[in-house]
Amino acid sequence: MDNSPIMSQYRRIKSAHRDDLLFFQLGDFYELFYEDAERAAGMLDLTLTSRGHARDGRIPMCGIPKHAAESYLARLLRQGQSVAICDQLEEPQTGKGPVAREVTRVLTPGTLVEDVFIEQGNESGLLAISPGSKGYGISYLSLASGDFQLGEIEDAGELAAEVARFNPSEVLVPQGYEFKSPFTINECLRELDQLDFDAHAAERQLCAHFSVDSLAGFGCEDLPLGISAAGAVLRYAERKVGQNAAHVNGLRISHRSDRVHLDPVTRRALEIDLRPDGSAAPTLFSIMNATCTAMGARRLRQWLRAPSRVIEEVLDRQAAVSEILHNHLDGNANRLLKEFGDTERIISRLALRSATPKDLAKLRHSLSMLPEVRRILAETTSARLSHITARCPDFEREVALLRSALAEDPPALLRDGGYIAQGYDAELDRLRGVQQNAQGFLQQLEADERLRTGNPSLKLGYNRVHGYYIEVSRAGNPHVPENYVPRQTLKNAQRYTTPELKQFESEALSSESRALALEASLYQGLIDKLQPSLKELKEAASAIAELDALQSLAERARRYGFSAPAFVRERGIAYKGGWHPVVAEHGNTPFIRNGLKLDDETSLFIVTGPNMGGKSTYMRQTALITLLAHAGSWVPAEEATIGPVDAIFTRIGASDDLTQGRSTFMTEMSETANLLHNASPQSLVLIDEIGRGTSTYDGLALAFAIARHLASKCQSLCLFATHYFELTALAESPGIENVHLAATEHQKEVVFLYEVEPGPASRSYGVEVAKRAGVPEAVLKDARGELERLEARMADSGTQDTDLFGNDESRAAIDETTQRLLDTLSALNADTMSPREAHALLYEFIAAARSAKLGNS
Ligand code: ATP
Repeated sequence: MDNSPIMSQYRRIKSAHRDDLLFFQLGDFYELFYEDAERAAGMLDLTLTSRGHARDGRIPMCGIPKHAAESYLARLLRQGQSVAICDQLEEPQTGKGPVAREVTRVLTPGTLVEDVFIEQGNESGLLAISPGSKGYGISYLSLASGDFQLGEIEDAGELAAEVARFNPSEVLVPQGYEFKSPFTINECLRELDQLDFDAHAAERQLCAHFSVDSLAGFGCEDLPLGISAAGAVLRYAERKVGQNAAHVNGLRISHRSDRVHLDPVTRRALEIDLRPDGSAAPTLFSIMNATCTAMGARRLRQWLRAPSRVIEEVLDRQAAVSEILHNHLDGNANRLLKEFGDTERIISRLALRSATPKDLAKLRHSLSMLPEVRRILAETTSARLSHITARCPDFEREVALLRSALAEDPPALLRDGGYIAQGYDAELDRLRGVQQNAQGFLQQLEADERLRTGNPSLKLGYNRVHGYYIEVSRAGNPHVPENYVPRQTLKNAQRYTTPELKQFESEALSSESRALALEASLYQGLIDKLQPSLKELKEAASAIAELDALQSLAERARRYGFSAPAFVRERGIAYKGGWHPVVAEHGNTPFIRNGLKLDDETSLFIVTGPNMGGKSTYMRQTALITLLAHAGSWVPAEEATIGPVDAIFTRIGASDDLTQGRSTFMTEMSETANLLHNASPQSLVLIDEIGRGTSTYDGLALAFAIARHLASKCQSLCLFATHYFELTALAESPGIENVHLAATEHQKEVVFLYEVEPGPASRSYGVEVAKRAGVPEAVLKDARGELERLEARMADSGTQDTDLFGNDESRAAIDETTQRLLDTLSALNADTMSPREAHALLYEFIAAARSAKLGNS
């Protein structure tokens, strides 16, 4: 074992950070040792080296240049790794043992507040799950914005959907609890000690944090599981950042009933802020985002990801958008908002005492713009905009303080000083004076010594190791005065000091380091003086973020010609002249607008039409219009009337989810099962192409049964797109109607009209579409022949349709039994079966066959 003082120091520090990679500063590098080195080398593609001698056992190690650490850290964090940064706290001095080192910051994916590590407009958040006998407590905390929420959920499926809605970067669970989600999740899971979830300790901690006697004021005293999760999440965050999170000054109850429920499958299908290939544009968010600040972009993204069901809240936002639009405030607001940085994040860093001088300079600038914001909003009357104005006071004290204390254009780092303003502190000004005079003193000394020695090439210099020196070139073997004391010998020159220079050096250096230390403490004092204003500062930043999101909605409504939707109490969704905002913007052809009316009278439309005819687009535009309306936005339709909507469910497009061990068909069926269990009469359900991943009969039977269930049991507002024309017969049932996307044939080519018309479509034009896609002519010819034969057979059998699809559950049961028998038979190995096993199986087969036959008779 390497017992050198440095490695002993390393081991002591590492023992307190077992779960984190320890970045250990050695001069200009951060070094990693042992397993940390091996892990980091693998994650970052670094060369693994080693330290020490073979006889002591070599220690694996790898290093990262300190100046480039940010990009490496960002890569590790993206891979879910947490990192403890251990910095040198002093300059190395010879003969004094290892320099003092300390962990100055622990970075984890869910506790980030530094802009460099968080993608623009995104959140870094933590979510804790506290499982109990009656359900689950959850709590979400974003250190960057100070948003803190808790809630309780009964059902495991709902829990997974909630986790997906919050989209946290880290999920905290008690040790031994296995969090299972039917959805693929990317965030990293961390197991914490069971004690971290103790509800009593959590309550005490939360009360202490908010300086209250009980949590009654937050309305959560009867949510013990939620409280236990909130305690765990806050404790973890504070442990990692090593600070009290003073800016987290509120705790909200997260009511699922407040939001339109969107499960991860729906979010993905609607491409709200992410495309299936992982890219961020074009999506609904990219189309709607005209924000000027990162905090505004985050707010808008939240509104789109979690549309509100609280109609007052929605109407409030809508009224603000309308007012901004009608008064043409968006242009002015836009110009002004561009002046604001990410104030929300700066305030979080201020609370965590990690704000840089540049941060504070930006804050000073932002605060000084607030009177201008109030001026722009002065004439407005909507409740939302008035509330924003009320949260933007002058902050006179803070602005004056920052103006007097902080340099005009301070450096980004504290290291080299120069960030405290001249005139703020008399002692600092005096020490700086000494340094400034030093420059003159040195120039004078150099001139004097050149004169005294008659050597014009003599020069004065400074380096960190040897301090100030007089350098004399060796050329010509020059004479040096007696009081020159040799300091360093170089190849072509000799360096000296003199008693006078030595005295100057100790004064100058001490004044420099004293000035640096004083500046650092004045800076901490400045941060202290701003702490009492954190709550108001946070409110103001939140108001500006909201104004930014609202002006973005207004700007987009104007640009795209949206209209304000009306909300009504009766259930239903109706719009005229609607369009899909992303397809219309990025499609190659002019978009054909369509309307829709779903209500008690007709709650389910069977949507047919040719391949590529626009069915999916029509369904998605309906969902996006509904979603945008509930986000408080205007909508892409000439007019729209929206009744209460509790959830949007989609089953659009199928894909394997191999990471979860599910085939395409299995994925399709579990998504369908989810929506059949959860859809209510107030849910909007979009089904596209159900049952395509199995045999035609099975698929058709399932499609029938699912459509009937949606119409009669769930009674949801539903668009059901299909190529099974047999399903159009369902329109005879009450509440179900057919619509189709029109197409026509011109010179043997299919021409899409994209118009939604009543009634079923006549055909799918699949072969024609395949032709347009470039399928070889020989295959097309064969397909046409096959199609004709199939159609003739159908026409001959006449009643086959109804026999198969009218009431053919028993037929499906037989198919299923046969399939099961065949599956079992093909999996058998007769050679290894005992006669007894074979006999038992035969009995089983006979029983299954009889019961299927019985069901059919
Ligand atoms: P399939 O049955 O093959 O899945 P589909 O009927 O669902 O096809 P969509 O995917 O909705 O068809 O649309 C195909 C393409 O047609 C879209 O990508 C878009 O470019 C265009 N399109 C759809 N609707 C319209 C419209 N209303 N106006 C103009 N173009 C449209």
